[in-house]
Amino acid sequence: MVPDSTVRIGLVLPEVLGTYGDSGNAEVLRKRLQWRGFEAETVSVRLGEPVPSGLDVYVLGGGEDDAQALAATHLRKHPGLQRAAGNGAVVLGVCAGLQVLGAAFRGTDGVVHEGLGLIDVTTEPGERRAVAELVAEPVDLLGGELLTGFENHLGHTTLGPSSKPLGRVVRGTGNGDGTEGAVTGKVVATYLHGPVLARNPALADLLLGWLVGHPLPPLDLAEVTQLRTERLLTPRRRRRG
Ligand code: GLN
Repeated sequence: MVPDSTVRIGLVLPEVLGTYGDSGNAEVLRKRLQWRGFEAETVSVRLGEPVPSGLDVYVLGGGEDDAQALAATHLRKHPGLQRAAGNGAVVLGVCAGLQVLGAAFRGTDGVVHEGLGLIDVTTEPGERRAVAELVAEPVDLLGGELLTGFENHLGHTTLGPSSKPLGRVVRGTGNGDGTEGAVTGKVVATYLHGPVLARNPALADLLLGWLVGHPLPPLDLAEVTQLRTERLLTPRRRRRG
């Protein structure tokens, strides 16, 4: 990226991939860039419109099963996001966004939908919906700070050899096998809502470091520290029955 050009953040299909405030991830990226003196703008990519391939970063949020199938169909028909990722754009997918970025996902109706194949994962419905605070220990990419957020999904995700997990589950379900999320190159996917980038500034800055071409010094935001502390102390929900 040219350092003094405007960073363009693609908010992908927020009308179908925008549950639980996940669209806030675009806002977090924009504000954290602006606080460091970079120009940044959000570009909403809407259903029914072609997907631009010239943006710097793309964020996809959670969604219901039918909405996420619609999103996958639209993004396969207009492959701007796949082209951008092939050219090194940064991509973040959350929950339904994670499943859509994968090779394939099966809906609760039993139908298998093709994903975008940007991460090496497949998703099947699990036996029971995972609804909880989710905590994971990051693997490799991030420092020691725990990843925190909440999850609400039925899908269980299996990683293939070309994806690494983002973390190992400390609390909650994540992918369903003890791992949480997936990373392939600059494509990062997670089950963490929150929005995840508001709850995990280290993850936001990892993506931004890739975007601007060098690591960024942390921002000291007391509200974020307080939010993380509160959430990491949230008591476990008791299982009913
Ligand atoms: N529909 C998907 C599932 O239940 C994703 C849910 C979500 O994005 N919160 O697995």
